[in-house]
Amino acid sequence: MSVLELLIAGEKVSAEGGRTFARNNPLTGGVATEAAAATVADAMRAADAAAAAFPEWSATGPGQRRALLMAAADSLEARKGDIAVAMAEELGATAAWAGFNVMLAAGMLREAAAMTTMIKGEIIPSNRPGSMAMAIRQPAGVVLSMAPWNAPVILGVRSLAMPLACGNTVVMKSSELSPRTHALIVEAMQEGGLPAGVLNVISNAPDDAADIVEALIAHPAVRRVNFTGSTRVGRIIAKLAAEHLKPALLELGGKAPMIVLDDADLDKAVAAAAFGAYMNQGQICMSTERLVVHEAVADAFVEKLAAKVRTLAVGDPREGNTPLGCVVDKNAVERIMGLVRDAQDKGAKLVAGGQADGVLMQATLLDHVTPAMRIYTEESFGPTASVVRVGSIDEAVRVANDTEYGLSACIFGEDTVRAMNVAKRIESGICHINGPTVHDEAQMPFGGVKDSGYGRFGGTAAIEEFTTLRWITVQDGTPHYPI
Ligand code: NAD
Repeated sequence: MSVLELLIAGEKVSAEGGRTFARNNPLTGGVATEAAAATVADAMRAADAAAAAFPEWSATGPGQRRALLMAAADSLEARKGDIAVAMAEELGATAAWAGFNVMLAAGMLREAAAMTTMIKGEIIPSNRPGSMAMAIRQPAGVVLSMAPWNAPVILGVRSLAMPLACGNTVVMKSSELSPRTHALIVEAMQEGGLPAGVLNVISNAPDDAADIVEALIAHPAVRRVNFTGSTRVGRIIAKLAAEHLKPALLELGGKAPMIVLDDADLDKAVAAAAFGAYMNQGQICMSTERLVVHEAVADAFVEKLAAKVRTLAVGDPREGNTPLGCVVDKNAVERIMGLVRDAQDKGAKLVAGGQADGVLMQATLLDHVTPAMRIYTEESFGPTASVVRVGSIDEAVRVANDTEYGLSACIFGEDTVRAMNVAKRIESGICHINGPTVHDEAQMPFGGVKDSGYGRFGGTAAIEEFTTLRWITVQDGTPHYPI
């Protein structure tokens, strides 16, 4: 098996001292990928290369950047098969999840391409006679991009598409769990024709992450940081970025609620709940973790959902005949099963699932979950959903907001005006009425509130994240000074 190398200044290079690390297949335990394990010195070289490429790249016109991003989208789609294999081997992901990743990520590249002509400014009336005052957006500099493994193509592409579209250069730190999948994205970007040094990529051994990230955030050329991952690591990144006065975009954990009102269409609500809770084994930041159900419809809803959940078979993703594949590793399964057992011990009713065979964990549904149970508050990031029964709209809103997280939410109810009034009271960045909590589109302002982070990816919102707004004037120089 060949070792994946770093990409620095357009060259594929080994890590200093030839260091490598392995990502093992979660199902077989065999080595899925061997990749270069960057040192801090390698990371500094990557940031230096990005800094060196910045003047030329930031001066390119939108047409050139658009063409490169469009070509990268085509190259990414051409790698769909290789990506599906890499995601199955590194993560135990299903082919359906891999296909969805490539489709949405290609869309993100095309949307970013379209955004290149949307980086606009304005003329602002000035009180100074003869002065024309402008606010213009310029590329910020080197962007540090860090993406996780769970939706590796979507989140990997998201971390670099808008930064590049805005004229920045990028150092991407790939995930230790999906280095090959992330390398395939980079290959597609390079094939699109990105000039050397515009995109640099480092992979690292898990134990080196903290030192490398700290050094990269401190690097003087790095002007923006974006991180998608857990709230725990997000807090570390936020502190480091604050120390160096660098803006950070943080997309962190979630505990998405789905509110089922008493007038919900239960069949539609069940379909959305099953998809939202169990797609990719619940390993999506927007996964439906909590089902907040009005007691008037709770029995019927739980019965219908349990029947659906029992059809969600789990199996080896390489065989491709089950809707669910692997949880990312055995530790994750143990943690998730610990949450399920704790809930059962404290009185929750196990309605479906509740068993695991290695990393193959059944879709699991718990009813009568209460705040005393860990699963009420902790992100499971696994194939579980918890029903919390409520007696009124006010109680539904209180329970939905009774979490430190605030990424996605959804509400099912046929009276859409009433549902909209509920949506306005939910503390989340994203909320869908009569649609699942799992929903992403390239052009939408994606992001959270509370401990789910801050900043927005997607469309025009991302332009603000990855450019600097400058005030520039042209004056006639007529003296008007008091001294
Ligand atoms: P994680 O935070 O554990 O790891 C992310 C990265 O952080 C790793 O690649 C690692 O290199 C780095 N890291 C680890 N320790 C560090 C340290 N001390 N200093 C600096 N960097 C360090 O997250 P994960 O397990 O890879 O991803 C799962 C989490 O991501 C879940 O909580 C999920 O909800 C969240 N997520 C959020 C979104 C979103 O858009 N909001 C999307 C997907 C996933």
